[in-house]
Amino acid sequence: MRDLIMNNVVDTILFDLDGTLYANRRPIKSAVNVIETLRKNNMKMGFITNTDGRPVEEIHKRITDMGFDISLKEVFTPVAAVKQFFINNPNKSCYCLVHDSVYNSLKELNMDDINPDYVVIGDFSDKISYDEINKVFRFIKNGSSMLALSKTNFYFQDNKININTGAFVSMFEVACEKKAILLGKPSKDFYNLALTKLGSIPSKTLVVGDDITVDVAGAKAINATSVLVKTGHYNEELVCKFNLKPDYIIEDITKLPDLLYENSL
Ligand SMILES: [Mg+2]
Repeated sequence: MRDLIMNNVVDTILFDLDGTLYANRRPIKSAVNVIETLRKNNMKMGFITNTDGRPVEEIHKRITDMGFDISLKEVFTPVAAVKQFFINNPNKSCYCLVHDSVYNSLKELNMDDINPDYVVIGDFSDKISYDEINKVFRFIKNGSSMLALSKTNFYFQDNKININTGAFVSMFEVACEKKAILLGKPSKDFYNLALTKLGSIPSKTLVVGDDITVDVAGAKAINATSVLVKTGHYNEELVCKFNLKPDYIIEDITKLPDLLYENSL
């Protein structure tokens, strides 16, 4: 086990949201206090989620409505990752195949609908058509690179299975024989963009989450320290079988200060 934590090396924490800070739209007991404690200790924090069909502002409101003291700039989603990507690559242009609500929050990007350097592909369920798909297909065939906001193929809602962004990304990948860059968990690029935004580095970062296949995998991808919580999607059988091991496993988020500070809470 690494001794980074007790030696006060960690200065940044990237939190997963659903299943880690809240579950079923309600905060995990005392999670709000944990964030307060970390803030008092000047910890840099990022709150990350894979939601690609909504603007960052909407996700921020959902979290603060639950009582969490979190600023808008600390919320990091695939949409925020796209913004950061183009801050890092200011001369590059893009075409965005995304939901209208997300498009509006990306307006400041250097848009190009003739010969874009990148095509951004997110949830485009409000405008799906053969014309739109062919337009993007031709851009990629002509040399545009793909930035995918998700590679998840399906999701469940109201007891029904629904096709998701990742299936469309795969469609473009197959048709164009080209791989998309994923700007979502557990991609290395996604976590690195989050750390760039926070001004942090992996060796001083803790990634905390409930899903070993996503949160721990993401931490390992950038060589950060991982903490798995036993709430949300935690599944003991999966943890035993999975090829990666978390650096720490804690009962729930309220045990995090104990891991970080002596005499906490
Ligand atoms: Mg989660």
